[in-house]
Amino acid sequence: MSYAPPLRDLTFALSDIAGTDALRPFHPAYDRDTEAAVLDAAGRFAADVLAPLNRSGDQEGARIENGQVFVAPGLKDAWRAFAAGGWNALAADPEYGGQGLPKVLQTAVFEMFNAANMAFSLCPMLTQGAYEAIAAHGSDAQKALYLPKLASGEWTGTMNLTEPQAGSDLAALRTRAEPQADGTFSLTGQKIFITWGDHDCTDNIVHLVLARLPDAPAGTKGVSLFVTTKRLVEADGRLGTANALKPGGIEHKLGIHASPTCTMLYDGARAERVGELNHGLAQMFTMMNAARLQVGAQGVAIAERAYQQALAYALERRQGRSVWTGDYPARLFDLPDIRRTLMLMKARIEAARGICLSTAVAADLARCTPDATARAAWRLREELLTPIAKAWSTDMGVEVTSLGLQVHGGMGFIEETGAAQHYRDARIAPIYEGTNAIQAIDLAGRKLALADGAAVPALLNDIAATTHALSDANDPRLHAIAARLDAAADATRHASGWLTGNAGQPDLFAGATAFAQLMGDTVGGWMLAKGALAARRNASSGDGDGYWRTKIALARLYGEIILARAPSLMGAVALGCDDLLAATPGALGAAG
Ligand SMILES: Cc1cc2nc3c(=O)[nH]c(=O)nc-3n(C[C@H](O)[C@H](O)[C@H](O)COP(=O)(O)OP(=O)(O)OC[C@H]3O[C@@H](n4cnc5c(N)ncnc54)[C@H](O)[C@@H]3O)c2cc1C
Repeated sequence: MSYAPPLRDLTFALSDIAGTDALRPFHPAYDRDTEAAVLDAAGRFAADVLAPLNRSGDQEGARIENGQVFVAPGLKDAWRAFAAGGWNALAADPEYGGQGLPKVLQTAVFEMFNAANMAFSLCPMLTQGAYEAIAAHGSDAQKALYLPKLASGEWTGTMNLTEPQAGSDLAALRTRAEPQADGTFSLTGQKIFITWGDHDCTDNIVHLVLARLPDAPAGTKGVSLFVTTKRLVEADGRLGTANALKPGGIEHKLGIHASPTCTMLYDGARAERVGELNHGLAQMFTMMNAARLQVGAQGVAIAERAYQQALAYALERRQGRSVWTGDYPARLFDLPDIRRTLMLMKARIEAARGICLSTAVAADLARCTPDATARAAWRLREELLTPIAKAWSTDMGVEVTSLGLQVHGGMGFIEETGAAQHYRDARIAPIYEGTNAIQAIDLAGRKLALADGAAVPALLNDIAATTHALSDANDPRLHAIAARLDAAADATRHASGWLTGNAGQPDLFAGATAFAQLMGDTVGGWMLAKGALAARRNASSGDGDGYWRTKIALARLYGEIILARAPSLMGAVALGCDDLLAATPGALGAAG
C-alpha cells in the first residue's frame, strides 16, 4: 500500500496549531515557501524511495555474517540517497554542514519518513541524537571530527545505554572504562538492543556509550559518556583499523525488522570521554530528550500510515446495507461505526501531531528567543510536553494501528494486507527511549515540580485562553468543544494538585500513568480546539471540499469521545497503593 504525504494536514498543524509563525523572526531562512518546498520534497522522498522498501524490509530483515551486519536489500542505496539529499542535516548547525532549519520542521519531515519506513528512519534518528550529544558536550576537536560526518550522513550514530541487567535502571550499568596513559579509555562490556548498532550502509559508525570508571561512585553518579567508533580514526582523519568492538548478534523482533537491533560487544575498544566524567547520564539525556520527541512523532507517523490504509480499504470494501444511503452492499465507509472509527483515528493522530509539533516549537523557542525570561518559559513548556509527546503519541500509535486492523476485519490479521506490519512496528515505541511508565513518572514526579510547580498552571492558562475564544465564537459547535475542554483542564488541575500533595510518595507512582493519559487527552483536545478555531476562520474564505468543516467535526468527536472521559481519570490518578499492596503473587495466580 502506497503512502500519501499528508502535506495539507502538516502545513495546517505547523502554522495553525503549533504556531510556527512565532519562530520566523529568529529563523529568517524558515519562511512559508521554504517550509512548503522542504515538506514537498521530503514527502516525495518518503513516498517514492522509502515507502516501497517498507514491506520488503519487514520480510527480509537484516542479517549478520562474520561480525558484520548487512541491511535488507535497497536500504543501502536509500541511505546514500537520503544523505545526498541533505535530509540528515536539516536541523544541524551550518558550521558543520547543516541547514540550520528549526527542529519543528525536522519533526514534520521525519513524521513522513517514519510513516514511509519506520525501521529505516531509526538510523537517522539515532544519528541526529549522537550529533546533538556531541554538539552539546563534546570538545572542539570532537565536534570538528564527528559533527560534519554525522550531519552529512557519511557516518551514522548509535546510543549505547542498555545492558542485560540495566534497562530502565541505568544505575545498574557495568560496562567498564579503563583510563589509558594517552588520555583515552578502554571500553569493555556488553550492550544489548542497540538500534542500527552495525550495518553496511557507511564506512564507519559513531557509538556513544555509557560506562563507568573503575573508581567511579556507585549508581547513576558514576556513569560517564564516551565516544568510540567502529573503525579507528587516524590523526589525519583517515579511517584506520577496526576498533575492538563488534555486534554479537541481531535480535529477532515483533516489528521494525529492517532496523538491525544489535548486541554490542566491547572488548577493550579505544574511546574518548565526552564532557566531564561521572556526568554521563545528564549528557546522554540531551540525546534522549531529542529522541523522545522523535519517538513520539513515530507514533503519529505509524498511526497516519495505518489510517491511510484503513481509509482506502473502507472506501473499497463493501458489506451490508448503509443506514445512511440505503446502498447494498455499502462501502464500509458508509457504515456509521466505521466512519466513527476512522474519524477517531484521524482526530487522535491530529491531536498527537499537534502535541509533537508544539513540543518542537517550544524546543526551538527555548533556544532562539532573545529574552531570557521567555526562553526559560519555553524551556519549561518543552520539558513538560516532552514526556507527554513521547508517551501519549506512542500509546496512540498502538491503539490507532490496532483500529486500522479492525477496520480491515479478518484481512487486517492477514500479513499480506500490510495493516499488521504497522501494528507490529508501532508496538516498540511505547517501550524504547524510556518506557511510557518511566515517562509518566518523569511527568508526575519531576516535571510537575519544575520552577516551583509553574509548568502546569502556565499550560492551563493557555488552554483557558482557547476555551474563552471558543466560547466567544458565535458557533454552538465550538461551545460544545469548549465545555469538554474546560472540564478536562479542570480535572488536570485537580490531578496535578493531588500529585503535588503526594510528591515523592508511593501513591504518586501508582497514579502517574493515569495522569500522563489525562494530560495527553487534555493537551490533545487543546490542539484540536485550536485547529477548530482556525478552521472556522479559514472556512470564511471558502470550504469547497469540506476540509474545514471536517476539522471542526473531528474536534467535536474527540471532545465527546476522549475529553468526555478525561475527568473520570481522576479516580485512577488518586488510586493510591492500598489495593495494590493488598495483592500477593499467589492470590494473583503465580505458580508455586
Ligand atoms: C527494538 C529495540 C530497540 C532499542 N534500541 C535501543 C538503543 O538504541 N539503545 C539503547 O541503549 N537501548 C535500546 N533499547 C532498549 C530500551 O530502551 C529498553 O528496552 C527500555 O528502556 C526498557 O528497559 P528493559 O527492556 O530492561 O525493561 P525493564 O526496565 O526491565 O522494564 C520492564 C517493565 O517494568 C517497568 N519498569 C521498570 N522500572 C520501572 C520503574 N522504576 N517504575 C515503573 N515501572 C518500571 C517498565 O516500564 C516495563 O514495563 C531498545 C529496545 C528495543 C526492544
